[in-house]
Amino acid sequence: MILNYDVVVVGGGHAGCEAACASANMGAKTLLVTMDMNKIAQMSCNPAVGGIAKGQIVREIDALGGQMGRVTDATAIQFRMLNVGKGPAVWSPRAQCDRGKFIWEWRRVLDETENLDIWQDQVEELLVEPVENVALATQHTGQTQHTGQMQHTGQMQHTGQTQHTGQTQHTGRVTGVRTIWGAEVHARCVIITAGTFLNGLMHIGRKMVKGGRIAEPAAEHLTESITRHGIRSARMKTGTPVRIDKRSIDFTKLRRQDGEQRPYRFSYFTGVSGNSGTSGLSGVSGVSGTYRVSGLSGNLPQLPCWECYTNPKVHETLRSGLSDSPLYNGQIQSIGPRYCPSIETKLVTFPDREQHLLFLEPEGSNTNEMYLNGFSSSLPMDVQIAALQQIPGLENAKVYRPGYAIEYDFFDPTQLKHTLESKIIDGLFMAGQVNGTTGYEEAAGQGLVAGVNAALKCDGTKEFVMHRDESYIGVLIDDLVTKGVDEPYRMFTSRAEYRILDRTLIQNWISKKRPLRLVATEKTGHRRNRDFLQELPHQSEGNQSCDRTTRHYPTPVRRKVGRPHSPSTTELSEPFEHYSPTS
Ligand SMILES: Cc1cc2nc3c(=O)[nH]c(=O)nc-3n(C[C@H](O)[C@H](O)[C@H](O)COP(=O)(O)OP(=O)(O)OC[C@H]3O[C@@H](n4cnc5c(N)ncnc54)[C@H](O)[C@@H]3O)c2cc1C
Repeated sequence: MILNYDVVVVGGGHAGCEAACASANMGAKTLLVTMDMNKIAQMSCNPAVGGIAKGQIVREIDALGGQMGRVTDATAIQFRMLNVGKGPAVWSPRAQCDRGKFIWEWRRVLDETENLDIWQDQVEELLVEPVENVALATQHTGQTQHTGQMQHTGQMQHTGQTQHTGQTQHTGRVTGVRTIWGAEVHARCVIITAGTFLNGLMHIGRKMVKGGRIAEPAAEHLTESITRHGIRSARMKTGTPVRIDKRSIDFTKLRRQDGEQRPYRFSYFTGVSGNSGTSGLSGVSGVSGTYRVSGLSGNLPQLPCWECYTNPKVHETLRSGLSDSPLYNGQIQSIGPRYCPSIETKLVTFPDREQHLLFLEPEGSNTNEMYLNGFSSSLPMDVQIAALQQIPGLENAKVYRPGYAIEYDFFDPTQLKHTLESKIIDGLFMAGQVNGTTGYEEAAGQGLVAGVNAALKCDGTKEFVMHRDESYIGVLIDDLVTKGVDEPYRMFTSRAEYRILDRTLIQNWISKKRPLRLVATEKTGHRRNRDFLQELPHQSEGNQSCDRTTRHYPTPVRRKVGRPHSPSTTELSEPFEHYSPTS
């Protein structure tokens, strides 16, 4: 069977969903191919969105017309504003979500998006036709020089140096994908967002099982069909903790942590329609210049989280299993996320610490499943369970499943342009975990940019690039494509040298550009999507790049908003959550 589309998105995770929505809303005939339609936007680890810097990315996605903020608001079961003891530049919204409802809210958004079809299948081959010695013109002017050397210990499939001069030498042009069931999807652009699934290998103690996530198959052959064209891949690793039945927990021994009483939320548009159906801000409920929480389309009951601590007995039990730990017996070679270490890594790295703080977080409003945040592990399952049962309050804990680690393939992001299109294969885009990042928000931000650019490419329109001095997404992508990754990349406020400016710009987008055209699904909306993107700051300028060797960032050229500046007290006294769309 042969299907024909403008854009095909491979993978319905956080990157893939935003990419598919953006592409379709931009007017491209789009197909999302994903392994399991019932696990669309599945949160593989903690069912929480936002946090330090990540919350900012979600609001940027929202300001651009993406969906993550709306879906989060509709399914949030606890909202907290982190870092309020510090300056507003680092305030960070975070929401605990109902995992199941998050999936179905995303399904609803996708189902209601025009121009978007879904095909449940597994892609195993990228279809590419050769382009002989043709240097395809690119619109970026950055004179990036990097060594092309990735320093992690995974099995990198290349050696030597790469020098990018700002000109792209495509060796092939993408024509589509082929699935394991033999379906061929022909498309002008393909966006790969396969997450942790590429040659995924899961570990619990010495036991190894192939898979992309627990109880889901790995995607085999796809990596090889991409690397054979000269795209480099390597391995990374991540992990997740045990899930516990809340009926077996003694909550009297734990400290309760409630969410915010104030009506915070992510999206400036939640309550307008609750989905992508209608654009515009009319109908938003404003109370004294703030959003009302009753404006949430989900409005689920808000649930508490719980704090508990490890202790020396727990540590002793965990240490007894270290010889069988795949992290310490040589079984896992690849690098994991530094900022989400496993509990065994914390013990080894901080041997003098007598306790570590853990959070028990609900997985949803109508499930007994609790997530033990901070206890990620790939130790043998009996060791994990014996250790956690020595935590006060968890003595009788019943476990749904143990923690595990997973290794997977990613591709060298320095082989991408700022649009997230490959420099090697024309029309191939990549977004999310496959670019060496970690986190739902980082994935979604890339997905949006890839989706927009794929649609623009089909239309022959100029590229959409976000810059370091206008968004965290710009920082993320610039870091990836100019510096590369040697460990899973997650966003921090400290990575954004223009962070105060970056926050202010979103407010400008919201106030000046409403209603956002990207969310428009009415038939006349597609033309306006592009108009809106062209109006954003910098869209007529070339890329700014970071020189990896000096770590010197060029001074941003600003046309519409002036030089980076410290915001005035007045600007800071109006944090986002009090920003009224009607003011
Ligand atoms: C066990 C585990 C623990 C994690 N822990 C953390 C953590 O502590 N902190 C953190 O920030 N992040 C963590 N992550 C990573 C987080 O889940 C990802 O960063 C995020 O989900 C990436 O989004 P994505 O869209 O790139 O990919 P994913 O969310 O992985 O989605 C990929 C999608 O693509 C589909 N797919 C894959 N291959 C194919 C194919 N060939 N054909 C069709 N469909 C395909 C899959 O079915 C899936 O729907 C963890 C992930 C796992 C698996």
